[in-house]
Amino acid sequence: MVEDSKVLVEKIENVDEIFSILKDYLYGKEIPFVSREKWEEIPHTPFTTLISCILSLRTKDEVTSDASIRLLKKYDTPEKIAELSEKKIEELIYPVGFYKTKAKRIKEIAKTLIEKYNGKVPEDFNELIKLRGVGRKTANIVMVYGYNKKGFLPIDTHCHRIPNRLGWIFTKTPEETKEALKKIIPREYWNEFNHLFVLFGKTICTPVSPFCSKCPIEKYCKKIGVTKHR
Ligand code: SF4
Repeated sequence: MVEDSKVLVEKIENVDEIFSILKDYLYGKEIPFVSREKWEEIPHTPFTTLISCILSLRTKDEVTSDASIRLLKKYDTPEKIAELSEKKIEELIYPVGFYKTKAKRIKEIAKTLIEKYNGKVPEDFNELIKLRGVGRKTANIVMVYGYNKKGFLPIDTHCHRIPNRLGWIFTKTPEETKEALKKIIPREYWNEFNHLFVLFGKTICTPVSPFCSKCPIEKYCKKIGVTKHR
């Protein structure tokens, strides 16, 4: 045990094996909130990653996928989006959560990228979070999935829940989880961690009643807090 009470282990036992098993089991090219099949219909760029991520906030994956395709299949650059009216963007992205606000932000972001960044999504975390409507989670996603940058660890609800169940950490918020995981997950796995754990959380280690009987890493799991499983 280390001094920081939010981390339960100093080192994850069998970490290489766990990541290798999960990669074999889950590996795919899609970003977690857009299905692989649908993501292939959209050019895969930092801009499309950014906009899809904004669409995904408080929205179901299937709705995000469909809205991303309606908008980005045809309007896949800041220049093309900037020419659209907010109303048109609203129509294309409906029914994603907060579609009116998101339409406004997407248009603003497109214009800002053109005016301040030569039409490019900045390849810099601190510049990204200056864009209105882009929070730290979205910026982390863009750095990892848009730019394949090392050293970023986007954490969502699956990435928070599963390491706690595994018994790696004991944290209450995704922010605490990020700090704790940075201490114990080898840096070489940071880029893949979000992808693997989000897919794993959607398919096997689900929020309610996980599929432990089918879980490829069950023997490494302490099942902390798991009262019901299948
Ligand atoms: S054994 Fe169950 S709780 Fe543990 S990681 Fe697998 S599915 Fe999740």
